[in-house]
Amino acid sequence: MTSQSPAQSTAVSARRQEDQADRPIILYYVPDLAVRQGRRSIALCGQPVAYDQQATSKGLTGGKGIICPMCDLEREQLGRRYRDPDKPIYPLAVSLGLQGLIEQEAGLTVCELADRTGLDSRELNQGIKEGNMPIDQMESLAHACGTDLTEALSWIDARRKAIETIRCEDHER
Ligand SMILES: [Zn+2]
Repeated sequence: MTSQSPAQSTAVSARRQEDQADRPIILYYVPDLAVRQGRRSIALCGQPVAYDQQATSKGLTGGKGIICPMCDLEREQLGRRYRDPDKPIYPLAVSLGLQGLIEQEAGLTVCELADRTGLDSRELNQGIKEGNMPIDQMESLAHACGTDLTEALSWIDARRKAIETIRCEDHER
């Protein structure tokens, strides 16, 4: 049996755009929960995106949509990073654990969390993506998610185990 990838599930979202009828519609990978009209999030490639239902469905069905190449690349690399035995597990686990806490437990996007904490959304996103976050910042992030550091660390630990399992299975194959 193969474990499910610990990667976050993603949906596509087109950026709000004005009167560009002839241009292709760029679709970005955003967290699943960001797919609600007007909801702001940060795409896999780091681009801030506000979900625009109309543009997204046009991009998906009208044959005019193009997946953002940077998002695509990022998604592919992410998948490889989990399985690469040379990549250290801890930063990856921190990254995935914090994303889980923010999105699945608190139901927030990184942009919305940044608003709550007064942090810069791009910086916050960068720290989460790299799994590089000082413990006091992690604690205030957990509080902004309505929980505490212990809970944040248990998310991280769960992701660490998931990555270890996947690598173990790969190794035995
Ligand atoms: Zn992108």
